[in-house]
Amino acid sequence: MTAEGRTRPAILVVEDEAPLATMLRYNLEKQGYRVAVAGDGEQALAMIAEEPPDLVVLDWMLPLVSGLEVCRRIRRGPATRDVGVLILTARGEEGDKVRGLDTGADDYLTKPFSLDELMARIRALLRRARAELGAEELAFADLRVDLARHRVTRGGRRVQLGPTEFRLLVFLMRSPGRVYSREELLNGVWGRDIHVEPRTVDVHIRRLRRELNAGNRPDLIRTVRAAGYALDTEAA
Ligand code: CA
Repeated sequence: MTAEGRTRPAILVVEDEAPLATMLRYNLEKQGYRVAVAGDGEQALAMIAEEPPDLVVLDWMLPLVSGLEVCRRIRRGPATRDVGVLILTARGEEGDKVRGLDTGADDYLTKPFSLDELMARIRALLRRARAELGAEELAFADLRVDLARHRVTRGGRRVQLGPTEFRLLVFLMRSPGRVYSREELLNGVWGRDIHVEPRTVDVHIRRLRRELNAGNRPDLIRTVRAAGYALDTEAA
């Protein structure tokens, strides 16, 4: 089933010790996670902004931008505030642990750690995130999406959407105003491994629009010529 590819959690490892980063990548990929690696805090922030992962394994002592600052910015960003953060600290940096949790990290582990312990913590964090996701409701303008029940309403009235339009809407609602190219929508909604024509995106956007706008409601989807689509924060 192709949905499997889409639901493989994405983990960003932020670690400047290359051998440790390589070891983590290897073992996380072996567990079936999608893994990206950043070697410093600045690169990490750029990668997180580009595509927020499900979880960040974050080393504390990093070049350029510290783990503390990376964590703080993750929590501040509307598109990233729900990203799980697991901090890795060196032994003896007890103060950092406390500060890390104050900054909004979800968990921490002291180096050197056992791989089994790290994997167990990661599974727990992802499980927790998933449970919260199941209970979540997304809201934008007069739109409400109940993720657990797959129920969409606009102005209190039920909107019936096909499964692809539903996923498309949820994807757009996670970052209102952000313009997504067809390519990004294909990757985010259909998955990278599936070959779909970019035109397919237009077809599903058209259907989504038709259902959302029934009853002459203002169009909430903005078409950005030659760029892609976004939820229109000005129409809201
Ligand atoms: Ca380090």
